[in-house]
Amino acid sequence: MDGTINENDLSRIIAADKAHVWHHLTQHKPFETSDPRIWVEGRGMRLWDQDGKEYLDAVSGAVWTVNVGYGRERIADAIRDQLVRLNYFAGAAGSVPGARFAERIIEKMPGLARLYYCNSGSEANEKAFKIVRQIAHKRHGGRKHKILYRDRDYHGTTITALSAGGQDERNAQYGPFTPGFLRVPHCLQYRAHEQEGAPQENYGEWAADQIEAVILREGPDTVGALCLEPVTAGGGVIPPPSGYWERVQDICRRHDILLIIDEVVCGVGRTGTWFGYQQYGVQPDMVTMAKGVASGYAAIACLATTEAVFDQFKDDASDPLNYFRDVSTFGGCTAGPVAALENLAIIEDEGLLANTTAMGARLMDNLRDLMERHAVIGDVRGAGLFCGAELVTDRESRAPVQEARVAAVVSDCAKQGVLIGMTNRSIPGYNNTLCFSPALIATESDIDAITDAVDQALARVFG
Ligand code: PMP
Repeated sequence: MDGTINENDLSRIIAADKAHVWHHLTQHKPFETSDPRIWVEGRGMRLWDQDGKEYLDAVSGAVWTVNVGYGRERIADAIRDQLVRLNYFAGAAGSVPGARFAERIIEKMPGLARLYYCNSGSEANEKAFKIVRQIAHKRHGGRKHKILYRDRDYHGTTITALSAGGQDERNAQYGPFTPGFLRVPHCLQYRAHEQEGAPQENYGEWAADQIEAVILREGPDTVGALCLEPVTAGGGVIPPPSGYWERVQDICRRHDILLIIDEVVCGVGRTGTWFGYQQYGVQPDMVTMAKGVASGYAAIACLATTEAVFDQFKDDASDPLNYFRDVSTFGGCTAGPVAALENLAIIEDEGLLANTTAMGARLMDNLRDLMERHAVIGDVRGAGLFCGAELVTDRESRAPVQEARVAAVVSDCAKQGVLIGMTNRSIPGYNNTLCFSPALIATESDIDAITDAVDQALARVFG
């Protein structure tokens, strides 16, 4: 850390934060007697807090975002150059970096053709839902408007995104929700024993068939779309079981249901391919992306669609209502696409997809080695540099350990200078998975340092 903030400034900053900032996902009472952590600087995979303490960040900025690591001058320089040339113009016109990034990212997504700019993952998902609803009105008299989402998946924080939210703890106290969203069961094979009628063999096909059961119950002519995460993130780090995606794709095609894949976490490299769905050979109709698009250097999210979806909004130009009547004020800020262009170039120039696959395999191997020493680890799963280790009281019953003990492992690692995460709080069975999502630049020694810290933390917390 370069120590540019002196102690006097720092105490004023902390006082200002305590007096005026409302932190995300935070109960503030403890700050009456202690200070919040304030991040001061980041380089590569390392962060420094207000005390100058160094941390190895194994969660890419808490929520799986900073894919290319901190302190990238190349991105900062490109943003600066663009902003002094033209920072912003919204609405119907395009921009130079907007056109360039759309071409570059669509190249990575065979079968998709159009890119729509906005600012957050929630917003991108809401755009996708609006497209489904508009197509339902245009082609099906409003009838084919229902949108299916999955237990444990998360699609954002706004009321309608929460209406498609499969994590009850996040939804509690925010209803009533937007009508027309229906839940389908999760596909976490490790917890199949909690799902009535779930077989151990061909579990993936069975889990997909549960989606079709909901479609048939509701009537396929009422269901417009299915929205899924390729690998469920905060709901437990859940890669799909084998056979799942093939069956899901087939179900959507048979019932003329649009498949929306929420790549807000997995998009742009996290799993070792450009998009998570590309691991599973599935072909979506719409893809939303946000966090890794510009690695947090600018607020940008995008919705990609097929030409077939797009065409429905331009085929009848004589109808004054036949265009996508949607806007995003800051979708017109050029910092986003220019940062995204550099972010993409860094991933290519530094071979970060291959690194993600190699380092992801090492992380999984290390975590599996830990299973031999720590009976509390019931399951290790993941895709690329996105892994989870589920903690259970015993491997036979698979009963989840208490949240407080999972949190104790996370905070023990932080004391050792390694930031790891855990899945969402408050719901037993959902809150017992340690999460790892280091930047795609991670080296072997970074990966080993992460799992060494977990090894020590587990030994201390579980003995
Ligand atoms: N989808 C998924 C899968 C996410 O994990 C998140 C954020 N955690 C979102 C959507 C919402 O993104 P944002 O916070 O940018 O609105």
